[in-house]
Amino acid sequence: MRFKGKTAVVTGAGRGIGASIAEAFAREGADVAMIYSGSREKAETLAALLAEKYGTKAVAYRCDVSSFEECRNTVRAIRDDFTTFDVLVNNAGITRDSLVAMMGEDAWDSVLGVNLKGTFNMIRHSAPLFIRSKRGAIVNISSICGITGNAGQANYSASKAGVIGLTRAVARELAAKNITCNAVAPGFIGTDMTRDLEDSPLVSQIPLGRIGSADEVAEAVLFLASSSYITGEILRVDGGLAI
Ligand code: NAD
Repeated sequence: MRFKGKTAVVTGAGRGIGASIAEAFAREGADVAMIYSGSREKAETLAALLAEKYGTKAVAYRCDVSSFEECRNTVRAIRDDFTTFDVLVNNAGITRDSLVAMMGEDAWDSVLGVNLKGTFNMIRHSAPLFIRSKRGAIVNISSICGITGNAGQANYSASKAGVIGLTRAVARELAAKNITCNAVAPGFIGTDMTRDLEDSPLVSQIPLGRIGSADEVAEAVLFLASSSYITGEILRVDGGLAI
């Protein structure tokens, strides 16, 4: 039980990769604060399920991570509800794909708002808690699109490249306080976000020959969150797609 007695905060925990990350932490003994923006019923059911299955505390919080104010209020609520605040996983993310010559301003602003500003918002409000306790681990979910870029995803690629820069800057800034900050860059993972792409020719370009699973991303997140000497690292979980 790598995280017994610790609290992990996971954004976008209502489904997909975030739900797998929340479950992986609960399986390893952590109490889990699950931030969601979709269905309240689904998030609360999932939290109750984890609490029952693993005997840990699991609470769902509704929060739009693109809102500075909502993130501040949610971090305060989590601080009041849990005894410790040890791990923050910034997983919430969206896509609004379009060729750049046709991309609307709203598609740019909303993707950058959730993926990049949302990650900043959560780090901004959690950092004082980490600094006070002189420990903590932040893991951001980027994407290989942030490393290689992807046609039709200028907004998404820019947001995920931004997350990599943010990760490295925060790693440098908070290292002196014993706080690590790393990122996972998934490739092609089977979730709602990629449902339409499962038969895409892209799959044949993955050296390991298959789409990854949300559990495989969660395992990388746990690895980075449990390391005491890795910081500023960007770990690809992509079956070799971006080699
Ligand atoms: P998903 O669409 O299944 O889940 C995304 C989650 O983020 C949902 O629970 C959603 O409610 C939440 N969310 C969206 N907007 C939000 C907001 N404003 N505030 C709070 N929560 C919000 O997608 P997924 O595939 O599970 O993706 C999870 C993360 O992994 C994302 O950051 C995504 O960019 C990244 N990623 C996914 C893949 C992939 O192949 N699936 C690849 C690379 C990176």
